[in-house]
Amino acid sequence: MPDLAATIATIAADMASVTDRGKVADYIPELAGVPLGKFGIAVCTADGAEHIAGDADEPFSIQSVSKLFTLKLALDIQGDALWTRVGREPSGSAFNSIVQLEAERGIPRNPFINAGALIVADVIAEAHDDDRGAIGAILRFLRELAGTRGNPDETIQIDPRVAYSEAATGFRNAALANYMKSFGNLRRPVDEVLQTYFHQCAIAMSCRQLARATRFLSAGGEADGTAIVTPERARRIAALMLTCGHYDASGDFAFRVGLPAKSGVGGGIVAVVPGRASVAVWSPGLGAQGNSVLATLALERLAGAMGWSVFTPE
Ligand code: GLU
Repeated sequence: MPDLAATIATIAADMASVTDRGKVADYIPELAGVPLGKFGIAVCTADGAEHIAGDADEPFSIQSVSKLFTLKLALDIQGDALWTRVGREPSGSAFNSIVQLEAERGIPRNPFINAGALIVADVIAEAHDDDRGAIGAILRFLRELAGTRGNPDETIQIDPRVAYSEAATGFRNAALANYMKSFGNLRRPVDEVLQTYFHQCAIAMSCRQLARATRFLSAGGEADGTAIVTPERARRIAALMLTCGHYDASGDFAFRVGLPAKSGVGGGIVAVVPGRASVAVWSPGLGAQGNSVLATLALERLAGAMGWSVFTPE
């Protein structure tokens, strides 16, 4: 087995010479201004060790990586009844696509496309009375998950400028929410649901914090000896990450990396190596489907070097 710390250091060093880095998201100024040269990686292993390289302690906009954590919260609230309101199939469409919603009567294909994440946000807003309550619950959960030994990481914050810009430009998300409301699949007022969603996208976290927050999914639902979800739920969330975590590039990501993972347009990707590790990688340049080019490449190399794909025999 190759040395993990050395492997990560080599991957991070190699990334500096990659010239095709994709394009930084430019739909809001806060993301457009992030330097293309940034790259960070953090790995938390089952034995409690942490390894980092590059800009692993620099907070970035987690964007759709948040959908993983809000799904967990919505499943706590609604249990399997959630699946009557959101599907579990890859969409094969762009993250913000509206087309399938008409034929499927306002029921999104999966919880990781925007439409699905809006249903998930609706569930959380309903349980916590409004968007403020929902946003507080999401932030608290992430602080607890990223904390160590019961001490929440209070440094995790929402970037208010990102939240504002998401709302100021979020016409497509507003259309999705209104459209689903017309089918009766949204219970709270549209604006509450949108505000919840825009604020979860605007949470800023570093690779180290995200890798810590994802530990429970690599460890049968447990982190620091505390059960966060049941082993069955951890397995099911990981299955959705593998099949739907990268929108219409999910098949390609599974082919190249072979790990359950979730991406965001801030350039972050978290990945789960069952029984072994959780990984977070960040580089802001995106490919055509909105997934980080360098983070995908780094995960491909890491999974290859360590033999970490879920399809590799032990
Ligand atoms: N805030 C973005 C949106 O809703 C998130 C998309 C993403 O990270 O994939 O358009």
